[in-house]
Amino acid sequence: MTETQNIQQNKIDIKSLNYEELEQCVLKMGQKPFRAKQLYQWMHQNLVTSFDEMTNLSKEFRAGLEQEYTLHGARIIQRQVSSDGTNKFLMELSDGNHVESVLMKYHHGNSVCISTQVGCRMGCRFCASTVGGLIRSLTPSEMLDQIYEIQRTVGERVSNIILMGIGEPLDNYENVVKFIRMISDEHGLHISQRNITISTCGLVEQIRRLADEKLTITLAISLHAPNDALRKEMMPVANKYTISEILDACRYYIEKTNRRITFEYSMVEGKNDGLSQAEELSGLLKGMNCHVNLIPLNPVEGRMGQRSMRSKIEEFKLLLERNEINVTIRREMGRDIDAACGQLRNKNKGGKLHESICQD
Ligand code: SAH
Repeated sequence: MTETQNIQQNKIDIKSLNYEELEQCVLKMGQKPFRAKQLYQWMHQNLVTSFDEMTNLSKEFRAGLEQEYTLHGARIIQRQVSSDGTNKFLMELSDGNHVESVLMKYHHGNSVCISTQVGCRMGCRFCASTVGGLIRSLTPSEMLDQIYEIQRTVGERVSNIILMGIGEPLDNYENVVKFIRMISDEHGLHISQRNITISTCGLVEQIRRLADEKLTITLAISLHAPNDALRKEMMPVANKYTISEILDACRYYIEKTNRRITFEYSMVEGKNDGLSQAEELSGLLKGMNCHVNLIPLNPVEGRMGQRSMRSKIEEFKLLLERNEINVTIRREMGRDIDAACGQLRNKNKGGKLHESICQD
């Protein structure tokens, strides 16, 4: 490693500091507290990428910042645009790792789906993102920058955020919670927590911990099976937590936050898409303040399963509805650009072409 790289690595990642932490740093540098406000605004509202652009700060202060801090989280290195308006971005992190983010345009606003880790260690059998295992977790600034870069590039405000890209958000708990607080901070982009969704494969302790954070975000649970035996075949994490433990944690979450939970159910042909399974699922969720989102599987080469037939998915949905469970089928966006997490990253590693999903 060269000396410059070494120095670079010893610098503090300034965009990962929340407002209070930034204030402390500014005071330590002998500056007045209001400078923290200006600095925070430059980074988290004006979305600048260099200290030089912070024109209302003195040259000396900027030079001091340059010496001690880095301002580089993630930058876009590739963009694919779909005919339905969905944009997929490959982001490069400062250490050269890659993650993916997707922008989906809806009539109610712009949604961005972000990654929370480089790779994933959960091992879901149908998912592409977990193929090479976990490399590392993302910092708050790397999550923020996925949104900042996209907002800057398209010149439109992002109003909804989905933590459903590469990685397991609750396996990167502290950074993810810090990210949520920062993106919803009034000094920053001030995105409403109600417009933020976290998707998890069901890490029970972290769900309970999240319930106590006093956040108003939406929680989505990747259930995918109505019983433990089948869930174990699809998701190794089912060996650690039973569905009943997950549902208990969900009830606790609902009780604490008063928020409706979403259950994601990816439909795999002949595996979990039968009517008896729809019946079993109804039994599990009956009376709960929840919503089921059926996801047509995005088949991944070398991974588990094929997509269920549309008619099967419709039948499954009808049965849930008859049992008074709220249910929708996920609208697919960006099929023509494979707006699915894992693929672009895998392609860029020179690996096999994989597909996964990253859709609202
Ligand atoms: N780790 C988080 C986020 C993962 S991606 C979680 O497990 O929830 C978001 C959703 O897409 C999850 O429900 C995940 O199980 C699902 N998914 C992953 N790969 C898929 C594929 N190939 N087809 C359909 N859904 C998939």
